[in-house]
Amino acid sequence: SLADKLQNTFKTLRGKGKLTEADVKAAMREVKLALLEADVNFKIVKDFIQKVTDRAIGQEVMSSLTPGQQVIKIVNEELTTLMGTTRSKLTFSSSPISVYMMVGLQGSGKTTTCGKLGNYLKKQGKKPLLVACDIYRPAAIKQLQVVGDSLAIPVFTMGEISPIEITKAAITHAQRYGNDVVILDTAGRLHIDEMLMNELVDIKKAARPTEILLVVDAMTGQDAVNVAESFNAQLGIDGLIMTKLDGDTRGGAALSVRAVTGKPIKFAGVGEKLSELEEFHPDRMASRILGMGDVLTLIEKAQSTFDEDEARKLEKKMKKGSFDFEDFLSQLQQMKKMGPIGDLLGMIPGLGNQKALKDIQVDEKDFVRLEAIIQSMTLKERRDPNIINGSRKKRIAAGSGTSVQEVNKLLKQFEQTKKMMKQFAGMDKRMKRGGMRM
Ligand code: GDP
Ligand code: MG
Repeated sequence: SLADKLQNTFKTLRGKGKLTEADVKAAMREVKLALLEADVNFKIVKDFIQKVTDRAIGQEVMSSLTPGQQVIKIVNEELTTLMGTTRSKLTFSSSPISVYMMVGLQGSGKTTTCGKLGNYLKKQGKKPLLVACDIYRPAAIKQLQVVGDSLAIPVFTMGEISPIEITKAAITHAQRYGNDVVILDTAGRLHIDEMLMNELVDIKKAARPTEILLVVDAMTGQDAVNVAESFNAQLGIDGLIMTKLDGDTRGGAALSVRAVTGKPIKFAGVGEKLSELEEFHPDRMASRILGMGDVLTLIEKAQSTFDEDEARKLEKKMKKGSFDFEDFLSQLQQMKKMGPIGDLLGMIPGLGNQKALKDIQVDEKDFVRLEAIIQSMTLKERRDPNIINGSRKKRIAAGSGTSVQEVNKLLKQFEQTKKMMKQFAGMDKRMKRGGMRM
């Protein structure tokens, strides 16, 4: 993948004490190849390499960074700039109803993303209405209904009549029933054609959407960029939602699309589940592409590396409320598996969210201390923390080289965690009963 390639290049750079112009040029050749292989638009790659090379060679050396780190920092910054620098938020209409028109090719993920966006906005207190405007495939209307039902979001359908009429009626319906967000699920084709565009232009006229959001499949690489270019030229779009960024995507589309269309990526689809939509942060994406991961991604990764087996066992215990210190310990050990915290720390200073990285460092020390305390408990104490009285606490503190205060703190944290887990287990059950997809 792009991340692997870039990481290899940077590994060699990282070891260098001093960088010569030749070093920079050699590294940039690798970066260029990696980007091209990831299907990033050629012209963009050329400009990008030029910019990074100029900055890397011409700059004054910051004392806190090695030259290698400095190049990485510049690449990171330029990647971020390429994707728009800052997060572009969804805009809301000043009138009571915000209308979002979802467009894109067939299979790009429109219907799924309508649900995801509805879910995202519902969580912010909005009252979304999903509208079935894809009348050409009978299954499409049904699909949107299933999506809406699973999220408890209403779906407006009128069968297979003109999507322009459906749009008008849906907005009237929203006015009457107090929906402040209308999300239009439009039809797509396998390829862009005139009929599709004409219909979308007509829907646009009828809906006067707050935003037209183009849904593109990240896995289609450069094609996604071409699609974005023509939709933007023929219909005008306000932003993009890039789906399937979870898969083995080459990442090139995410890098090119902003530069080619001038329109920002607003959200990323990162899985088939309706909860798997993320706000798109250019800086986080850049870090991810560079393979350094940002803190949030790390935390998420920690959750997913948590052995499934272990998770299942834990779930049982949570439900029974029998979570004990042995589980706590194995959980801590799982969290340590999550990845190259050390690598990340090696990059300090100069990259990403430094404060957050330092927090992680603290956490890691915490782990060691917590582990020591638990390991100083007897098996009996681990299984039944209630028996840990004053003299036991003293013994545990002495054994782990900590203090009674720290032992108390852990016991308290443990109680809170246990309580939270119980609540969570209950919630999980309720959600499943309600037909919610998890
Ligand atoms: P539409 O034809 O544009 O309406 O596309 P659909 O919403 O029907 O999605 C097509 C396929 O892509 C479905 O199998 C979805 O589950 C899948 N899909 C959509 N978004 C994502 C995503 O972010 N990640 C993954 N892995 N699959 C997705
Ligand atoms: Mg669809």
